[in-house]
Amino acid sequence: MQLSYLPYSLQFIHPFGLSYGTRTKTDVVFVKLECEGVVGYGEASLPPYLGESHESVIDFYKKAIPILSSYNLDCNPNELLAVIDELVPNNNAAKAGIDIALCDLLAKSRNQTVYDYFGFKKPGPKSTSVTISIGDLNLISQKLDEFSGFNILKIKLGHEDDKRIISTIRQFSDKPMVVDVNQGWTEKNKALEMIKWLEDKNVLFVEQPMPKENLTDMAWLTSHSTLPIIADESFKRLSDLDTVKNCFSGINIKLMKCTGLFEAVKIIKAAKKEGLKINLGCMTESSCAISAAAQISSEVNWIDLDGPLLIKNNPFAGVTYNSGEVLLSNDVGIGAKPVEVLNFN
Ligand code: MG
Repeated sequence: MQLSYLPYSLQFIHPFGLSYGTRTKTDVVFVKLECEGVVGYGEASLPPYLGESHESVIDFYKKAIPILSSYNLDCNPNELLAVIDELVPNNNAAKAGIDIALCDLLAKSRNQTVYDYFGFKKPGPKSTSVTISIGDLNLISQKLDEFSGFNILKIKLGHEDDKRIISTIRQFSDKPMVVDVNQGWTEKNKALEMIKWLEDKNVLFVEQPMPKENLTDMAWLTSHSTLPIIADESFKRLSDLDTVKNCFSGINIKLMKCTGLFEAVKIIKAAKKEGLKINLGCMTESSCAISAAAQISSEVNWIDLDGPLLIKNNPFAGVTYNSGEVLLSNDVGIGAKPVEVLNFN
């Protein structure tokens, strides 16, 4: 199979532009994998804090191209992806780009959707959470109006005025919300006090309340909390599951963290066996990677797949949004295709 790639920048559309600080774009690399006349597409999304860039992804793909060229549609994908994984440590988004394209290619070659390919149920329409950026509290009602078509709010906390933020939102909306603390609560008793305060505020779960390495306090907090506590920064890949399974109520799976769909499916199966809850999240991603994630959404408790809503130059069509729910296209593979001419290298 033949890999080609296209570095690209997704421009943010959000009129307030506050969720992302001063950033106006996220770099991605699109992947095209061709074999025996079948074409698969993938995407690596590269928010700067994860340390991958156009250059690092292209370097990685230059190493992967000769390996991929010796495989065809009869390949064992787990074996192939293990070889790709061992090329260089980390580079998880770059690996996810290859994985998504491979999954798209193999499912299409069998005329299957990705959910068929993995033997999962067809995902029905599912409500996604949508991030409401905070910034100026006087703008909250305006922002809530802007996302009035959505059913679940995602609010980033971890600041001095957390209670004021939630109280302000609750003046205007009683929709269920998920709270992402991004490791922002550093003292366990204060964290528990906040969680108790949130208990009657229609909160579905609290994501990564404390620093990722502080697992002892996380385990204590989870055992005392009535709200589910979900690992995000503490959890990347399947190999992290043993470490976090006793410290959290569940995990946040993102394709860009876990190297893609094949590993995400393994994580889902293992996490369910452990009785862990699962949120399926995303980075800033186009409809390519988001459609791929949506294919496995029947297997998880919650989804946070709002990526395409935040960008103005989405070169793929795939999932659509209706009344706050994510709907799959009827196409095979990941269910996404380019809507403009993309000149892959
Ligand atoms: Mg998070």
